[in-house]
Amino acid sequence: YNVPKAINEPVKSYAPGTKEREQVLATFKEMYNTSVDVPLYIGSEEIRTGKTKTINPPFDHKKTVGQYHEAEKQHVEQAIAAALSAKKKWASMAWEHRASIFLKAAELLAGPYRSKINAATMIAQAKTVHQAEIDSACELIDFLRFNVQFMAQIYAEQPVSSEGIWNRMEHRPLEGFVYAVTPFNFTAIAGNLPSAPALMGNVVVWKPSAGQVYSANVIMEVFKLAGLPDGVINMVHGSASMISDVLISSPDFAGVHFTGSTGVFNDIWTSIGKNISNYKTYPRIVGETGGKDFVVAHPSSIPAEVATALSRGAFEYQGQKCSAASRAYLPKSLWPAIKEHLLNDMASFKMGSPEDPSNFVSAVIHEASFDKLAKYIDEAKNAPDAEVIAGGGYDKSKGWFIEPTVIVTTNKKYDTLCTELFGPVLTIYIYEDSQWAETLKLVDETSPYALTGAIFSQDRYAIEEATKALENSAGNFYINDKPTGAVVGQQPFGGARASGTNDKAGSILNLLRWVSPRTIKETF
Ligand code: GLU
Repeated sequence: YNVPKAINEPVKSYAPGTKEREQVLATFKEMYNTSVDVPLYIGSEEIRTGKTKTINPPFDHKKTVGQYHEAEKQHVEQAIAAALSAKKKWASMAWEHRASIFLKAAELLAGPYRSKINAATMIAQAKTVHQAEIDSACELIDFLRFNVQFMAQIYAEQPVSSEGIWNRMEHRPLEGFVYAVTPFNFTAIAGNLPSAPALMGNVVVWKPSAGQVYSANVIMEVFKLAGLPDGVINMVHGSASMISDVLISSPDFAGVHFTGSTGVFNDIWTSIGKNISNYKTYPRIVGETGGKDFVVAHPSSIPAEVATALSRGAFEYQGQKCSAASRAYLPKSLWPAIKEHLLNDMASFKMGSPEDPSNFVSAVIHEASFDKLAKYIDEAKNAPDAEVIAGGGYDKSKGWFIEPTVIVTTNKKYDTLCTELFGPVLTIYIYEDSQWAETLKLVDETSPYALTGAIFSQDRYAIEEATKALENSAGNFYINDKPTGAVVGQQPFGGARASGTNDKAGSILNLLRWVSPRTIKETF
């Protein structure tokens, strides 16, 4: 099929003196000093329920930049009805027209809306401009463009026919509606989870994370401006358990597209199980959940490279990426050199408001996360088998600021080496150089997750050994690179075990989950 060839959106530099820097900072300032009022989007209506919560920048939590309205049960029921009534027309629309809407959304985000989506992500999710750019601009644009290409590949996939027989396949949308549940940490994921099923002809009810409603609202604005018909994607806010209950108990529930915590995904899966005999069709369950992602260095690795992977992989966006390097296994012989590079890198980190682009890190998302991280850091300070060798400070007077922190432990089961923290805390275990094979086993067995991981070595046998030993330990496995920063179309993203259903965002595999094909055989 003829669709525009998808290319990855080039990442802008935001270097001093550039136009993009001037623009995004002006937009930031303007949005910071006005108040946004985020409604529910149900069918053609923007509903303001009056039951509101404020939006507060994590790095300046006493400041309010707006509010969002929360849904009651009847609004969620209304969202289902709106989705179902939009369904027939949307599903039968020629695919080129669905594709055009999302391609236009990509162009709006690449051009006139770039500053706005980045500034919303900087303000409410506390991303630096560089982190916002790779996420809310580039990755979201990439999802929208590449998904159109994957869609065309899916539609082109047809069975063979034979003499007097014509076999064909229709890649129809699912029967019912799809529920999209999206996280605070990636604006791109928030945009992809409702739009990927919608592109394939589905209708959607979308619940963004409370931490991400500001950029979610910009996404809705862009989708509508690009021509998305009313009711195709409906957005609701409020109590996640109430919203899930209403949606999952509907007989028209046809699937969930989820990114978030393992615990919440397990709850969703359980309630789908309880409702299973009420559905018209078996629902699709697609989820990306937690991670406890590793970096393993072999004695043949280059210390400066390992250190860079750790400082960027563990601390960019305050370690709040599912893919963040949060545990490292380093050989004793290289540890002094790696440590020197790592501490040097970290000495240059500045922490503060994203309004200053020279800040490398900002605040964590909310108070609950701050308190949890501070507790783990304090425990490490007092533990006999752990030492805090960098950072360790925290301050919540103005924002939820946790210093990038490195813990070194001699205990292979130490709490922060095993538990997902979702913050700027890296835990390091130093192994004896002779224990390489045992270390690989330890890496595999330490965590229930299997999202990302990286191995550093200059020795091809060691690389091969690690690739085999860790084959089930990470859905995204990096050789001599940091475990973060997967690019749509280049490194399809997702993991198995407790990290999710491994349906690979940014690939054709994900879009295949949103169709229910019909095979037609016609005999002449
Ligand atoms: N795809 C992102 C990366 O590779 C991580 C996404 C997530 O945090 O869920 O860094």
